[in-house]
Amino acid sequence: MRSVKITKIVEVAKDSFLLSFLRDFEFVAGQVIGINIGVVQPARLYSIASGSSEEEIKILFNLKDDGYLTPLLASSKPGNSIQISPPFGNFVCNEKEAWWIASGTGIAPFASMISSGTAAGKTLIHGSRFLSNFYFQNEIAPIMKASYIRCCSAESGVGIYSGRLTRYLKEREDLPTDKKYYLCGSADMVVDTRDILISKGIPYENIIAEIYF
Ligand SMILES: Cc1cc2nc3c(=O)[nH]c(=O)nc-3n(C[C@H](O)[C@H](O)[C@H](O)COP(=O)(O)OP(=O)(O)OC[C@H]3O[C@@H](n4cnc5c(N)ncnc54)[C@H](O)[C@@H]3O)c2cc1C
Repeated sequence: MRSVKITKIVEVAKDSFLLSFLRDFEFVAGQVIGINIGVVQPARLYSIASGSSEEEIKILFNLKDDGYLTPLLASSKPGNSIQISPPFGNFVCNEKEAWWIASGTGIAPFASMISSGTAAGKTLIHGSRFLSNFYFQNEIAPIMKASYIRCCSAESGVGIYSGRLTRYLKEREDLPTDKKYYLCGSADMVVDTRDILISKGIPYENIIAEIYF
């Protein structure tokens, strides 16, 4: 672990924050880093949300009021130090057609992939309870156009599917069985989505998951 200084921290929606620091390392879109403040507890893992050529590394996180690290991060200021690990992880995607499925802050690795230029041939489904939690939608929508599907379970909005992403997937009759499916977010979403995909004939080995536990 080594120390870097926060350049920005912005509350992008209620209890959701985007933290930035200058990038001085290479990474592959989809990878994670460990973050810590002090050494009281082990580092927590976070997907890098920014593109691989961007000047800054961006991390999107939800505040857990009763958690260890996120209250410390959420109250940090620009200029404060955090400890980071080198980037690592295999949740990376190639140029082939694929489906990307995210819940909540699980959009982060896909936002990184899109900013790194791998959006062509991808379909992105993002599920959230509230309309305010479609992070990066202003950047994603013009690039992915009709291949970007937002599913909102607690509110309705223009152009947004009303309901959980799992219901959306159950209703789709045309899910290809020969493409890879990348799932990222809560354990509940990943487990439920995996079951639906398997029930629709998608082979287990075509489902790649990153679970935020
Ligand atoms: C590969 C990976 C990538 C991730 N990427 C992201 C990301 O990009 N963005 C993001 O927001 N999160 C991400 N996470 C989750 C992140 O690592 C942290 O778990 C999260 O931010 C909470 O950290 P915390 O220290 O604030 O909470 P923690 O202290 O870890 O607590 C989390 C929750 O668990 C509860 N809890 C803690 N200990 C116990 C216990 N013993 N028994 C029962 N409940 C307990 C707490 O009350 C709290 O509600 C990722 C996780 C993984 C594994």
